[in-house]
Amino acid sequence: MRNPHDASPSNVHPDTWAVTAGRPSREPDEPLNVPVLLASTYTAGGDLEYGRYGNPTWTAFEETLGGLEDGRCLAFASGIAAIAATLDLLPHGAKVVAPRHSYTGTIGQLNHAEERGRLRAELVDIGDTASVTAAAADAAMVWIESPTNPALELADIAAISAAARAAGALTVVDNTFATPLLQRPLGLGADIVVHSATKFISGHSDVVMGAIVTGSGSLYDGLKKRRSLNGAIPGPLEVFLALRGLRTLPVRLERAQSSAKELVRRLDDHPALTEVRYPGFGAIVSIVLPSGEAADAFIDRTGLWRHATSLGGVESTLERRRRWAAEAPTIPEGLVRLSVGIENVEDLYRDLDTALSAG
Ligand SMILES: *Cc1c(COP(=O)(O)O)cnc(C)c1O
Repeated sequence: MRNPHDASPSNVHPDTWAVTAGRPSREPDEPLNVPVLLASTYTAGGDLEYGRYGNPTWTAFEETLGGLEDGRCLAFASGIAAIAATLDLLPHGAKVVAPRHSYTGTIGQLNHAEERGRLRAELVDIGDTASVTAAAADAAMVWIESPTNPALELADIAAISAAARAAGALTVVDNTFATPLLQRPLGLGADIVVHSATKFISGHSDVVMGAIVTGSGSLYDGLKKRRSLNGAIPGPLEVFLALRGLRTLPVRLERAQSSAKELVRRLDDHPALTEVRYPGFGAIVSIVLPSGEAADAFIDRTGLWRHATSLGGVESTLERRRRWAAEAPTIPEGLVRLSVGIENVEDLYRDLDTALSAG
């Protein structure tokens, strides 16, 4: 699929790589996009052999996301399947250090593994580098989310990765919120990056998919083996849609981030809010109302913003996170997470302001 005209991640800007990577060769009549290749099996004797081991539509997506993250990528059935495969690398009884405000599904997996004696988990404040590195001393893996969901705390990925490496532990970064356009953890010393491609990468709220990227050949081989053994593979149509989404990630994110910053500027001293949290980049903002009831009533009064879980789509959505029993009790009852889409920012602000001011 490679040819000498193709860009490489080292000689073009990531915005260009997102558009140009993973394309068929420039022969006459070749399509510009890799098709949705539906195959359970392939004629024997090649590299693919069976549909659970490989698929050319996966390869196009993996080449594109891998180049953006500076590593080799594996597509998975969901973000949570990618997380499960990564935790499955660890030996029985190993210790994992993770943010207390990790994605609820990550905490769910760690709790379930701990209940069965499979792993030990120590939950930390990931913004407190000294306590994270202290906890890493006897750990096999340090799990990072930065920014965290929905508290939006930031981790010092470089310092934590260095301390974890010195202690013999792997560092994993869930890069779903930042995307490789705003943060490249492998370059900061992390060993593995995981993604929920469901969110910004696909970007249109119509796909559930995940991915893992690593720069290490042995970790890549171990993770690929787990994908084949456990079968957490994505369907080719999902991968095609995720790659189509990835093509426009740079323009979607640029627009959504600039609108997020403008909304934060305007909401910062809004009298209906007790707090506005924004890590300084990205398209996720958390606003805090005085109570859960006030937050629910505000959400009911919005029109343009859609009340829905998940995030990272072209359409703006919002959600009171404590409506979920699994959300951390340290998250305020009145916290509403905003996922800023690509609509006009004046329309987005007017809808929020009207709903906030009517309270
Ligand atoms: C949604 C999400 C996940 C889980 O991904 P799925 O694609 O829903 O399985 C993991 N991490 C973060 C940060 C997420 O937002």
